[in-house]
Amino acid sequence: MEKVLELLIELQNIDTELISIEDSKGNLPEKVNTLNNNLEEKKIALDKVAQSLDVEKKDLAQLGNEIKENEVKLNKFQDQLYLVTTNREYDALTNEIETIKARNEEIESIQESKEERAELLEKQLAVLQEETSELKKMLDVKIVELSEKTDKNESRQEILEKSKAKIEAQIRPRFLRKYQRILHAKRNALVKLNRDSCDGCHKKINDQKIYEVRQMNQIIECEGCGRIIISDEIEDLT
Ligand SMILES: [Zn+2]
Repeated sequence: MEKVLELLIELQNIDTELISIEDSKGNLPEKVNTLNNNLEEKKIALDKVAQSLDVEKKDLAQLGNEIKENEVKLNKFQDQLYLVTTNREYDALTNEIETIKARNEEIESIQESKEERAELLEKQLAVLQEETSELKKMLDVKIVELSEKTDKNESRQEILEKSKAKIEAQIRPRFLRKYQRILHAKRNALVKLNRDSCDGCHKKINDQKIYEVRQMNQIIECEGCGRIIISDEIEDLT
């Protein structure tokens, strides 16, 4: 086999691994970022609901107190009714009593709608709490995954880059540039023969070329995609 083809196969294998490392890295930080944003949004929503619920509960407590105070007043006024001596006093007291009763009725209806709202908010809060803790769990898993991957990849990448440099130094610049140009455009510069076609773009290759490709003693480019075609009998290409 031509030495340059051997080197290009080694180089392609390294680049394939480097690309897959980059791919897996490029994906995880994005996921972590998205989960982080979702979690922040969820927390804001949760705070809002919790605050609204707090307001409703405070209002309800206040209204409850007001009713109690009114009951005390009512009892007092009812007792006073027995002691009045004039019609004017009687009318004034009855008036007060009616006003307080009307107010209590009003309060009861406000309480009812506030209780309904509080119930709804409590349900929303429970759902949001559940969702928040789910997101937090997912985020934690991804963060661990990312840091593990980054640590593991960094040392692997270093090794790969070193071997890559060694191989590149042995390839004539003209061939190396050709390889790099195709790699950047297509993500792989070397493909195997697939029956009578290029495995990259599936263009048919004539018998003469197939024969030459299988000889593996020169660089043969696909006329369709420009990739370097190597023999289908080569097992070294990953
Ligand atoms: Zn092709």
